[in-house]
Amino acid sequence: MIYLDYSATTPVGFEVLDTYNRTSKDFFGNPNSIHELGVKTKNLMNSATKQIAEIFGIQDTEITYTSGATASNNIAIIGCALQNHKKGRHIITSRLEHPSVYAICDYLEGLGFEISYVKNDEEGLIDFEDLKSLIKPETILVSICAVNSETGVRQPLKMIRQIVKKENPETIIHSDMTQAVGKVSVNFHDVDMATFTGHKIYGPKGIGVLYKNNSVNLTPILYGSGKSNMLSPGTPAVPLIVALSKAVRLSTTDIEKRERFIERLNMKIVDALSKYEGVMINKTKYSIPHILNISLRNIKAETFLHALEENEIYVSSNTACSSGNLSTSVYAIYDDKVRASSTIRISLSHLTTTDEVNRFISTFEEVYARLSGLIRKFD
Ligand code: PLP
Repeated sequence: MIYLDYSATTPVGFEVLDTYNRTSKDFFGNPNSIHELGVKTKNLMNSATKQIAEIFGIQDTEITYTSGATASNNIAIIGCALQNHKKGRHIITSRLEHPSVYAICDYLEGLGFEISYVKNDEEGLIDFEDLKSLIKPETILVSICAVNSETGVRQPLKMIRQIVKKENPETIIHSDMTQAVGKVSVNFHDVDMATFTGHKIYGPKGIGVLYKNNSVNLTPILYGSGKSNMLSPGTPAVPLIVALSKAVRLSTTDIEKRERFIERLNMKIVDALSKYEGVMINKTKYSIPHILNISLRNIKAETFLHALEENEIYVSSNTACSSGNLSTSVYAIYDDKVRASSTIRISLSHLTTTDEVNRFISTFEEVYARLSGLIRKFD
């Protein structure tokens, strides 16, 4: 098997799984219990939270655990809208967000909030002038992802923060950092709230994080028992939390070295695929190397994906998770419906080997020749 879908999810690391197992076995107490076992479990959870906080240079009180990035996005965006609706009902986001952010914005639009979509340029970067012009006194939130999940375009969050805060210092900035954390270095201080998930960083599935600066207030959207965090009531998933802290540590170690290695793999694929007239490389100078998106002219991405799958090669067809049959992100960047209608995402990891990339390229060539031959036959 050649797994090239690391941006969809990652295999859980051996040490991470071991941490999960040991914590489940030895620290099964409820951290909300006041007896010794509960307190021991709570102490372990607190030290895991401290470790995550230290790695990102934030306070441990600024971390909320959730079930994943979708849940974190909901708690952040809806919580901010409910908290601030008397100040204003205007939210700005981009055309490069994950479907979970769009779904929340659609929901809030139905409740009477006004949603503006900031333009991006041909490199996929947020158009600063447009952003500036959209901000008004009623703008309560700007939500822009750190790295686009389809094309890997990385946004300059620091710059975005400067523009937003200059126009309206009260506007809260949220960033979905799901595709950035563990791949490239991130700075949570560029934003007021950030989201990420364990399963994209070789951690377990079912655990996510919401970073919220202590100065930001959110209205909870979940209610229940448990006093450890008002935004996420209930029994904390301690084994997942401790395993997540291990995954955060491991995935943020040697990040630049890994990035350089992945860049070489990415270039190898780009070089090999660029020779095809019917293959368009959806990569801009701001794309991180971990995500490589291509469009296929005249071949349905789904057909191509399944042909690769027959050879035990796994990639994503990004169009599957986008609205209609178009990849929203590719369309937002290239403004080309044909290009956006058949896209494939190849996502790489430090676990990917050069041999895997070579085998992917030769299989791609065979599959491409076969499928484009079929098209000619039926022309
Ligand atoms: N945000 C981004 C940018 C993503 O890539 C994903 C997953 O594909 C999500 C959110 C959703 O994450 P989760 O599966 O943890 O809910």
